[in-house]
Amino acid sequence: MFDTVIAGSLPKPAWLAETEKLWPQWKAEGAELAQAKLDATLLWIKAQEDAGLSVIGDGEQSRQHFVHGFLEQVEGIDFEHKVEMGIRNDRYKAMVPQVVAALKLKGRVHATEARFLRAHTKRKIKFTLPGPLTIVDTVADRFYGDRRQLATAFAELLNQEALALQADGVDIVQFDEPAFNVYMDDAATWGIEALERAAQGLTCTTAVHICYGYGIQANIDWKNSLGQEWRQYEKVFPALARSSIQQVSLECFHSHVPPDLMALLHGKDVMVGVIDVASDTIETPQEVADAIGRALQFVPRQHLIACTNCGLAPMSRAVAEAKLRALAAGAKLADERQAAK
Ligand SMILES: [Zn+2]
Repeated sequence: MFDTVIAGSLPKPAWLAETEKLWPQWKAEGAELAQAKLDATLLWIKAQEDAGLSVIGDGEQSRQHFVHGFLEQVEGIDFEHKVEMGIRNDRYKAMVPQVVAALKLKGRVHATEARFLRAHTKRKIKFTLPGPLTIVDTVADRFYGDRRQLATAFAELLNQEALALQADGVDIVQFDEPAFNVYMDDAATWGIEALERAAQGLTCTTAVHICYGYGIQANIDWKNSLGQEWRQYEKVFPALARSSIQQVSLECFHSHVPPDLMALLHGKDVMVGVIDVASDTIETPQEVADAIGRALQFVPRQHLIACTNCGLAPMSRAVAEAKLRALAAGAKLADERQAAK
């Protein structure tokens, strides 16, 4: 049976935060907010289990955004004075915090939700952290003055948290590196080096998610500018294949990524994106099984994991729930097709 898992994020319920936004405002504060985050986490654990996914995540219900959730616990970051910056090579503008001093973790970042997740499902659990290169691209540096050095500093902090997550019972620690598809030369050299530093000493499964971003308009416009063949992965995959990272999550369904690029990940587990996060249309199990079938031409069966293209955070809750079911049903159908061969 193929493992099934989401890339990471899920929509926040309307009582927790603004809906269908990438940077939503919370609807509560203090202890009430802390409780609401866990209530939403429990809801999504159940929804993932009911859909039939084999690996469960917290749906990132406790963080406003996948990068800033981590940064909030880092000393040396000024969150009071955010500045507007063009991120992902100026694809879109975001209000980002500034690095103003040497970086240090204030304490645990995700202990509460990771332990809560572990306590409420018996299935394997995956927990996501932003990758060093992507963090570097989502802050304004006023202190280190060098992206590579800054990435190493973040990698050390990520490593502390990743080791603690492993101790909390997390089975898979995943680093999200959408910026790998933007700065391919940096990614293939110091990006992967920093990633390996972040994963140093982990004995649980390690993963990296590399995508073309959430289904927001700026990303859709960018994708439309990339031409008929998206070959960004070509530079990074061979370097990743040589790395110690065990699983790689990539976009496949409805993307223009040539599927044969997956063969460059020889020896790795490949989380193949078979659910489109840029469309509200629900995939049929047949479409998902077909996408898995195409990937099987380049990824051995025992290395293939069915996944979403990216996070589902900005989607509606009903659409996300239906997509979870489509993912599991499609993987089951693909498995039956294999068994019938
Ligand atoms: Zn993504």
